[in-house]
Amino acid sequence: MIPARLKLTFVFAGAMIVTGAALGVAVSASRTAGAYSAIGREALADADLAMRIIDQAASAHEQVMVRDSSSANGIALTRRVAERLDVIPGYIVIVGRKANVVFSSLDARDLSDEDWATLQHGIADLPNDGPAGVINVGQERILFVAHAIHDTTTQLTRVVAGVRVRGAQSLPPELVTTIFAVVPLVIALASWGMWLMLGGTFRRIEQVRRGVADITDGRSLHRRLSDDEASPEIAALINTLNSMIARLETSFAALRRFTADASHELKTPLAVLRADVERAMSVTTRKDERLVALEEALHETTRMADLVESLLTLARADEGRFDLYRERVDVSALTLEVYETALILGEGAGVTVNLPFTADVTIAGDRTRLRQLFLNLVTNAIKYTPRGGRVDIGLGRHPDNVTFAVRDTGAGIAAADLPHVFERFWRADRARSRTAERGGFGLGLAISQWIAQAHGGSLTVQSRLGKGSLFTLTLPLDAADRAAQDDIEIPRERVGDA
Ligand code: ADP
Repeated sequence: MIPARLKLTFVFAGAMIVTGAALGVAVSASRTAGAYSAIGREALADADLAMRIIDQAASAHEQVMVRDSSSANGIALTRRVAERLDVIPGYIVIVGRKANVVFSSLDARDLSDEDWATLQHGIADLPNDGPAGVINVGQERILFVAHAIHDTTTQLTRVVAGVRVRGAQSLPPELVTTIFAVVPLVIALASWGMWLMLGGTFRRIEQVRRGVADITDGRSLHRRLSDDEASPEIAALINTLNSMIARLETSFAALRRFTADASHELKTPLAVLRADVERAMSVTTRKDERLVALEEALHETTRMADLVESLLTLARADEGRFDLYRERVDVSALTLEVYETALILGEGAGVTVNLPFTADVTIAGDRTRLRQLFLNLVTNAIKYTPRGGRVDIGLGRHPDNVTFAVRDTGAGIAAADLPHVFERFWRADRARSRTAERGGFGLGLAISQWIAQAHGGSLTVQSRLGKGSLFTLTLPLDAADRAAQDDIEIPRERVGDA
């Protein structure tokens, strides 16, 4: 693999060479075109001059043509006119009425027979008063123009003038020096500059790579890459990497906390279990005490099983491996069922439970999970409400969603704690370690929120310390759900109106 720095420098140098060459070709082409048009003008001037010499002679009633036995058609220009025409440099050929050559200039006369034949053949195809044409005669390239002669007195039809194309294609020496010396030097310098510039950029990228490589484990995630002196593009890369590292740091910390919390939560019941089993196995323990110990051991085992079940649910939810079993769920029936359970629980806890309103609504969802969520909200409300308190449950149906709300007049949650209630293992009374008394692990609301989100809904909380809390679950209604009937009972009092 060729390193990118080398490849880019080569591509840059290549592009410069191609540009230089294209520029050279363009300059040379435009110079050649300029030179050709100057030569064309020169040939035109020569042809004009030859015409004027003949015109002058004709208008001065001078004799222009003589019989000449040496010429092909036995006719030629008079010596006087021919001598005047010989003064014009280059090639002049004057043609008579029968396409016969009546005069050819010195240069033309010096040509070999073969070249002369080529020239004659070439000028025969040249249009009168048309564009110039280049004819290769021997080693030379000659640019010819032809003019028609309309004067009937002279018996001449056309005059052809030609000028050698010399130097029109070669570039002037100063340009050649520029192209072959200065341009390669400029290209070399520019490529070197490019190499150095790319070196700086790639060094910065290498620094970033090394910085990322140094963050090898969860413990070095507090480090951040520095974006000092970085170009905007590299700074953007560093910023993105830094925010990724920050997210990783948060996840790692959460994972560590989660593992620590889970082990901690398992440690206590395991210790109790162990003590109970030891007590039950001891020979000195009385039979009734042994039974009490075994009962407590059973209780702890159930608690641990609950905890492991909750952890498994959350782990699966995190991995996205948990498929909801979707079916049509009669939410009103579910609410009634949960209400009946709540009545029994409330009775035991000395808390009044009410269902002031409900609605007839079915949704597509996982019945077991929704029941778990409803029960969790209701049991929490009863658990955290002191004797004599009140819990209201309400199911409301709205155009686009359904709300299940649970309000209590219990302990409430401090404003500072509210953002944490849905966090795993978070419990307001954790410091006081009343787990045994209240029996929770702080996982119920985390699971409830996941269930709500998995149904495309949300779970929110409003609470005032000492005044009570209101948990509201909102679940979206799909088209089929919306077709269901309206509320069956007009609420006298909205549970959600805190
Ligand atoms: P737990 O099993 O401890 O109840 P949850 O996740 O269900 O776990 O609740 C987390 C914490 O939120 C509880 O420990 C409690 O401090 C607080 N909480 C939940 N519901 C209520 C409520 N209705 N009133 C007051 N505090 C509550």
